[in-house]
Amino acid sequence: MHGIRRVRELGLECLEMSWGNGVRMSGATADRIHEARLEDGLELAAHAPYYVNLCGAEDVVERSMARLIEAGVQGGRCGAASFCFHPGWYGGQTPSAARKRVAARLRQLTRALRDRGASLDARRHVPLLKSEFRWRDLLRALHEVHASGWVICETPAMEEDALRPQRFYRRIA
Ligand SMILES: [Zn+2]
Repeated sequence: MHGIRRVRELGLECLEMSWGNGVRMSGATADRIHEARLEDGLELAAHAPYYVNLCGAEDVVERSMARLIEAGVQGGRCGAASFCFHPGWYGGQTPSAARKRVAARLRQLTRALRDRGASLDARRHVPLLKSEFRWRDLLRALHEVHASGWVICETPAMEEDALRPQRFYRRIA
């Protein structure tokens, strides 16, 4: 709740709820967030728990799926348009074998969320503001192709690092 107000004060338009260490949110809280989001006209996204590996051992995959479903259901209840997650790591598998396993689980996840009435996108995560990363070029390219959507920034200095690309984008747009 506090986060939503703070984001508005800063002049940002989108907030990602960080559930990296677990969702830990009641349905009632999710409903209150949904109301606040509507009042403030804010776009919401969620970050699913980090402990996810969709190409690991079977029990790991099952637990990962449960965490992703919980994040998706609660995110949908908050009114988030999407949630992101890190799908897993190769371990000893080839990248293509790992991709296939992840893709099958993603289809299953999408179905499971639809069955639970949650309408939001599950998206994979693209880190943006790595210090050596040419984020200005990326924003120029997004503007050139008239891309729509939200750029979410996950860095230790979140507020400043989210405002900087926003200022830059408004200058070029
Ligand atoms: Zn992430």
